[in-house]
Amino acid sequence: MVEKTSNYRGRLAPSPTGYLHLGHARTFWIAQERARAAGGELILRNDDLDAARCKPEFVTAMLDDLRWFGLGWVEGPDLGGPHTPYNQSQRVDCYADVFDELRAAGVVYPCTCSRKDVQSAVAAPHGEPSGGRLEPAPGFGDEPHYPGTCRPENLPPDERLHRAAWPRDGVNWRFRVPDGVALEFTDGHFGPQQAVTGRDFTDFLVWRKDNVPSYQLACVADDVAMRITEVVRGADLLLSTFRQLLLYRALGRVAPLFFHCPLVTDDRGTRLAKRHDALSLRALREQGRTPEELRATWAAQ
Ligand code: GLU
Ligand code: ZN
Repeated sequence: MVEKTSNYRGRLAPSPTGYLHLGHARTFWIAQERARAAGGELILRNDDLDAARCKPEFVTAMLDDLRWFGLGWVEGPDLGGPHTPYNQSQRVDCYADVFDELRAAGVVYPCTCSRKDVQSAVAAPHGEPSGGRLEPAPGFGDEPHYPGTCRPENLPPDERLHRAAWPRDGVNWRFRVPDGVALEFTDGHFGPQQAVTGRDFTDFLVWRKDNVPSYQLACVADDVAMRITEVVRGADLLLSTFRQLLLYRALGRVAPLFFHCPLVTDDRGTRLAKRHDALSLRALREQGRTPEELRATWAAQ
């Protein structure tokens, strides 16, 4: 156990939707190394908001696999800590407060477009940035383009007024992304990153009509509440970082630093996902592989 000598706080934020694989292990290992090098601490957050895909057996497996691999944390769903609960599914009150702040700031609006109109999901949108560069792709790479149908300025005044009185539940809510604003941040790994709002991404969901916050809102709410100073995660979330920066700005909060890790690919260059069961930490362990040996292969790359 390394003594804490700074205010650095990092987090591991796996989603229990399957068994963790080597790609997760690599990102989490980097997160741990960075927390150690900074003399800070690392916490574990269970990103289990997606009730349809998250399973209790994956939570147990997740904790077990992380520990087997040599990862440790000082606060988490199994250990407790000052920011309990560490399961997102139990933190809806915290998310509701953040939603209320956004609504009071006038930056969110209800959207009645059907799922068919716009495909959107509660899960973190895992895009495929190439080499850390953001590419304006049709549908913005990771999420379908929202055409702005329900933006207040596109509604007749009486409808706008009517919707202003709607309660939160029972309708989807979107964050109003400004048009044509150049956003920038310096990534700890990839260096300077730019995106243009309205071109690279547009109005994203913050609250779903089944009363579940979106990944973007929950992630920011938790990183604020849990006093995270640096977010270390996969490069597939680079574009989401810009969405989250807009949330920090709207909430008047200081954003953490960001360090995105290059994605691990298999021999054919395909990104490792949970469907690559052969490369799950479980399977590797059963095959007699050791964490030391697996880490040694990264060093050789
Ligand atoms: N739980 C999210 C995922 O598995 C990660 C969120 C994050 O690190 O911001 O994609
Ligand atoms: Zn709409």
